[in-house]
Amino acid sequence: MNGTKYKSTRPQALLVSALAVLLVAGTSARAGEQPKLILQITVDALRGDLPSRFDNVLGDGGFRYLMEDGIHYTNAHYQHANTETIVGHVSLATGTVPAAHGMVANVWFDRELDRLVYNIEDSRYRLLTAGADVDRKTEIDPTQKAAKVDGRSPNNILTSTLSDEMAIHFAGRSKIFGVSVKDRGAVSLAGHAGKAFWFSKASGEFVTSNYYYEQYPDWVNEWNARKPASSYAGKSWELMHPSAKYLFGDADDREYETDLAGFGRVFPHAYGKADDKYFTTKLTLSPAGDELTLDFAKTLLNNEQLGQDEVPDYLAISFSSNDYVGHLFGASSLEIEDNLARLDRTLANLFAYVDKKVGLANTLIVLSADHGQPEAPGYLHGLGIDKAHYFDTNALDKTPAIAALKKQFGFGEELIEAYFHPYIYLNRELIRDNGLDQAVVENAVAAELKKFKGVAEAVSSTALRTASLPDTLLMRTILRNFHPKRSGDIYLVFEPDVFINDFDGLIVASTHGSPWRYDTFVPVIFAGAGLPGMMVSRAVTPYDIAPTLAAWLGVKPPSGAIGTPLSEVLPK
Ligand SMILES: [Zn+2]
Repeated sequence: MNGTKYKSTRPQALLVSALAVLLVAGTSARAGEQPKLILQITVDALRGDLPSRFDNVLGDGGFRYLMEDGIHYTNAHYQHANTETIVGHVSLATGTVPAAHGMVANVWFDRELDRLVYNIEDSRYRLLTAGADVDRKTEIDPTQKAAKVDGRSPNNILTSTLSDEMAIHFAGRSKIFGVSVKDRGAVSLAGHAGKAFWFSKASGEFVTSNYYYEQYPDWVNEWNARKPASSYAGKSWELMHPSAKYLFGDADDREYETDLAGFGRVFPHAYGKADDKYFTTKLTLSPAGDELTLDFAKTLLNNEQLGQDEVPDYLAISFSSNDYVGHLFGASSLEIEDNLARLDRTLANLFAYVDKKVGLANTLIVLSADHGQPEAPGYLHGLGIDKAHYFDTNALDKTPAIAALKKQFGFGEELIEAYFHPYIYLNRELIRDNGLDQAVVENAVAAELKKFKGVAEAVSSTALRTASLPDTLLMRTILRNFHPKRSGDIYLVFEPDVFINDFDGLIVASTHGSPWRYDTFVPVIFAGAGLPGMMVSRAVTPYDIAPTLAAWLGVKPPSGAIGTPLSEVLPK
């Protein structure tokens, strides 16, 4: 290029021909050519330490393939305060924080509509399958249960996703799909331009809405007609290995674990009959949910012919079981350990299939999680850590401190109208009718709440708006979670190991959603596409993933992206 004459000597010629052989053999996709498939895997609630903690029950080709053959970032943390499912998934998809992408919580109270809103609800886009909407009588997911509007779309996501940017860059030629048991796990990553499928517990099928399709592709109808979920009827979730192989092999029965509708606290966990009203729910509380997701995703990959031409395609798969199992049994349970062992087999199966159909050298894989996972207080108590406890938010309005405030302001009725994690909503009408200033009341209530046992921080939205805040790490995480149109009146943070565990009468073992390290800690692993095995311990964030994929593909980053491309991953 600079005019220097290239002097061909024998060793160099050998090197050049060796490189040519490597490229022809397809062992490296890092020399500038595009991968044919981006495979973005999310494991719901996979805390960063869990795969290596349970290494003893892992096999080959799954997590070990990722951790040994891929680039494993061992110090990745979210930097927003509300570590909930939609918040994390959309952060992975968009490379930014909820203050920008707008998904501040699984549910929020919309003051204009005067009701609770579910993150991806959209009544304009009905589900294609009649009767597939959330069955609120049997739904155990509190956020789904609380939302009363059916229909789903990604329209509440305010910034673009990496998948959107691929659609734009490649002029609509990229095939883009998101699949998950959870609707929000699929819709988030498919973005505004892709197509999403999720598991309906009401119908036992994978479904979608007419945002994406007017009618199902034939292969979806065929998959659903096979009724794969019913093959689990009468069967049980059993241990994969002899119990001595597990870290928690002798600790199956713990009194703080949840026994949902006869699923039990110990192995084997019986799924019951197909017509049992909790049958499909039990599938999602076990490895079966991930196995069904795998089977559907493989069928999709084959029928939609992903990764078969020169334009990169995108497939996002979010495995949900780990989250449900964690809520019911805790992060240190035999159930979470066996679920991980089974998920490891599910991943190995997926990678073998992708290798056969597309080739792992042509596939850029990235695995992460939407959030981490806390320990159940009962488990911590057994280790002598007594300070862990559950917090009763129903009692908030009744406490002497709030009663005194109400007396001071002259309120007779409920001042705290609602608490929907992570926000407190005040009775604005009451404040107005009493001729009081919203900001003054917000700040006074926040100041009282801060004195509660178990409360680490309570910050009013007025304070966030005016930025009259101490510049602490915790405050920054809350600010990154703040959206003026969606955030509630007061952001409440509990101390580490303090949780809410009562969801409409369903008592769970543990609840994530805090800004503490156990909830922000997730794995970030890139593999395939000729990447070398490498462990990286420098601090990175999951917001870096979308910008890294964008940089690799040469497409512009998503509209709100704040992450930085990871240099270890990018083609040299
Ligand atoms: Zn989650």
